[in-house]
Amino acid sequence: MKKILIVFFAVLSIASLTIYLSIPSSTAMAKVNNINSRDTTNQKGKKMNEKVIKSNEDWKKELSEEQYHILREKGTERAFTGKYWNHHEIGTYVCAACGTELFESDTKFDSGCGWPSYFEPIDSSRIIYKEDKSFGMSRTEVMCAKCDGHLGHVFDDGPPPTGLRYCINSGSLKFILKEK
Ligand code: FE
Repeated sequence: MKKILIVFFAVLSIASLTIYLSIPSSTAMAKVNNINSRDTTNQKGKKMNEKVIKSNEDWKKELSEEQYHILREKGTERAFTGKYWNHHEIGTYVCAACGTELFESDTKFDSGCGWPSYFEPIDSSRIIYKEDKSFGMSRTEVMCAKCDGHLGHVFDDGPPPTGLRYCINSGSLKFILKEK
């Protein structure tokens, strides 16, 4: 009888241990999700920390004249002329030069300024912020962190929750419609 009990408890212990090891703890699962949500791999499978560096000649070949002027020469399209200032479809706005996903449509708002406006980027590490003193103004320029392309400026007169207005040239962006 004693022998049977020992065997029974041995089997029970092994079974419990097997079940315990096969179920990941909720903390581990949360960490995996956290890492996945912070994954900055773009569509081409390259990590964000790999910069896209190209010569002006190469950018000229890949971009339209207007895109090149805005992205590589820090130009600005005229207000109310770009293709996205009054655009309301659901999807993602990516950098027109390197394809990095920059803004989601649910952070876009009608600022009335004539350029597409967002209250926050998808990930602030995908944006470079730089003081811009040109034209006698003091502004904060925003650029794509991957390709250094000029996007526009960020102002502190945006709506909640951030109070920020990322005022971006349509020419710096490409819209990717969300598939239903
Ligand atoms: Fe870019």
